Amino acid sequence: MNVMESAIAWEEFRLNGDGLIPVVVQDYRTDQVLMLAYMNEEAFQMTLRTGKMTYWSRSRKELWVKGLTSGHFQYVRSLSADCDKDTILARVSQVGAACHTGEISCFFNELVKKQYDETNPRKVFEDVYGVIMDRKEHPKEGSYTNYLFDKGIDKILKKVGEEATEIIIAAKNPDPEEIKYEISDFLYHVMVLMAERGVTWDDIMRELARR
Ligand code: AMP
Ligand code: ZN
Ligand code: ZN
Ligand code: ZN
Repeated sequence: MNVMESAIAWEEFRLNGDGLIPVVVQDYRTDQVLMLAYMNEEAFQMTLRTGKMTYWSRSRKELWVKGLTSGHFQYVRSLSADCDKDTILARVSQVGAACHTGEISCFFNELVKKQYDETNPRKVFEDVYGVIMDRKEHPKEGSYTNYLFDKGIDKILKKVGEEATEIIIAAKNPDPEEIKYEISDFLYHVMVLMAERGVTWDDIMRELARR
């Protein structure tokens, strides 16, 4: 691992009363917020030197290379400071779960929640895919998804082809509303195909991110 140079020196950070800076840790692939931990200067320099997230454990009062016992290391993709330089945002490649409970993220204790977040495409894709997988495992009377699974792969492929063609036709239609319905139809049928073939959104995201 190459030593990284920080554009901001340790001395420029605004530390808390204990001489530490909080670090918000985020998965660079999914943008999921994974955890919050603190760094002292040694942890910061070690993180730059090794490329592995290293913190100051306030409970154990010692330098803490995240993952040293669990194997759940965090490899640095980027480090940023916020506007007033009192917080670091670390985007990392997370091995395994960030939380010592085994949860991917430490933030699983939901306090309040307003509405369904339909602005996060990844979440909507995962939710729809989840319903399709659930239909596959627990068929439901009158379900169109189950009808497709029952008819088999050739029917699913035929639908994917038809819906792709309908996107092309809709794109030539002056009414801009049309194309969004056709793309949605297409994506749904692609997801049925993915479920049929055992391809997950994780597989797709990993492949796209790799390119
Ligand atoms: P690890 O660094 O993953 O090998 O874990 C070593 C120890 O650090 C664990 O036994 C926990 O006590 C603590 N720990 C690990 N991950 C977290 C976390 N996300 N938040 C708080 N404590 C943690
Ligand atoms: Zn600001
Ligand atoms: Zn701040
Ligand atoms: Zn945790």
